Amino acid sequence: MIRTAGIIAVGDEVLIGEVVNTNGAYLASRLKILGVSTVIQTIVGDSRSAILDALDHASKLCDLIVTIGGLGPTQDDVTVEVISEFVGRSVHQDPDVARDIEERHSRNPGWQNSVAKQAQIVEGAHVWHNPAGTAPGQMISWKQGYFVLLPGPPREFRALVESRLEPWLMGQTSTTLIRDTYTIFNMGESTVAHYLAPLLSGEHPKTGIYASPGRVDIRFEDHGKPGTSDTVANRRAAAWARGQLPVPMYRLQGKDRALYLVGILKERNLKVAAMESLTGGLLMDRLIAVPGASSCVAGGIVAYTDTIKERFGVSGKTLSTFGAVSQETAEEMALAIGLKMNADIGLATTGYAGPDGGDPSNPVGTYYVCLAGSNGKTIAIRREVHSDRQGVRQAAVETALSLLWQYLDLPLELH
Ligand code: ATP
Ligand code: MG
Repeated sequence: MIRTAGIIAVGDEVLIGEVVNTNGAYLASRLKILGVSTVIQTIVGDSRSAILDALDHASKLCDLIVTIGGLGPTQDDVTVEVISEFVGRSVHQDPDVARDIEERHSRNPGWQNSVAKQAQIVEGAHVWHNPAGTAPGQMISWKQGYFVLLPGPPREFRALVESRLEPWLMGQTSTTLIRDTYTIFNMGESTVAHYLAPLLSGEHPKTGIYASPGRVDIRFEDHGKPGTSDTVANRRAAAWARGQLPVPMYRLQGKDRALYLVGILKERNLKVAAMESLTGGLLMDRLIAVPGASSCVAGGIVAYTDTIKERFGVSGKTLSTFGAVSQETAEEMALAIGLKMNADIGLATTGYAGPDGGDPSNPVGTYYVCLAGSNGKTIAIRREVHSDRQGVRQAAVETALSLLWQYLDLPLELH
């Protein structure tokens, strides 16, 4: 059973920082999904003694050791020789690999060198054909563990990880890591953490919270059978979290909300318009970035000052009584822009992005987002966000998308 892995990246260019070890990062994240923990990562130059030392150290800690690079045709590519020395086995030329290289490269000068070097296989190794290059991968069973040799060029490396290493590992391990991600838009990270505190300290599933501007992702991870897509523990935790949180918890499966919304608006033949103060066009940008937005976005204006808000339909009385940052103003903005642009849905954003400004009842970071439907009904949300200027503006855009989602009565779980 393979539980632990060591990754050894080989190459002077990686060692001195000319090339970043992206292969190592990629592999460790893939292994985690398969339930294998990476316990050590090493970078060594094209040096026999350094590679031997790294192998010796990693083999004491890990069930699986993956080397990256050093399988090329040149003198400095020594990984195969060094592994053969380490495991005490000879190398031989593999006729199938040699033929493959000849067939594909006999028009290139120096192809014989490539055969001489890259068709060398450690005795007893399984050869993993490289769909994107010449050097094949090799998998060697040794004592209680395994060595896997993979080429360094990222395209070849990833192709072999996906086509050979992962399927092989799935057969070796009895469980795999199953990850389910949910997203919250109208709540800060610390508040989400407060509601989900009992889950955060548990192990089944392991629950993580990851914040980015305007959103908080909740990730449940549990071990399950390879090939399955969710686990009882993940589902139970998600249902519990949904019951605790006072805001919607989305399961978007990696889909972009704006893209999904534009599709639905198009399907239902609805048009939206927006009057943006705080977000200064960000909301319109988010929708218009989706191809085909022209069929459902009527237009928008940035109404930053009171004068402009008034010119586009907000009453001076509302502005002077309640202020520009108020639910009343947001509602009038949304209603006015819907009417002016002959749209089915009017959206509005207003708030204090900071760092200065704010008033006693609406401190910096407070915003109002409002949606006005064609029946004249409005729905509004007030939030206080602790973030920088761009974070507040981004959060308001996400709130507007949430309001659209709510108004259109869309499912919280996408498939
Ligand atoms: P070849 O020498 O035939 O190109 P190889 O298997 O010997 O193949 P390396 O020489 O180690 O591979 O690396 C080839 C190229 O792949 C490097 O110049 C670098 O651009 C990239 N590379 C190597 N190792 C890594 C790594 N760990 N992460 C990202 N890129 C890498
Ligand atoms: Mg090389």
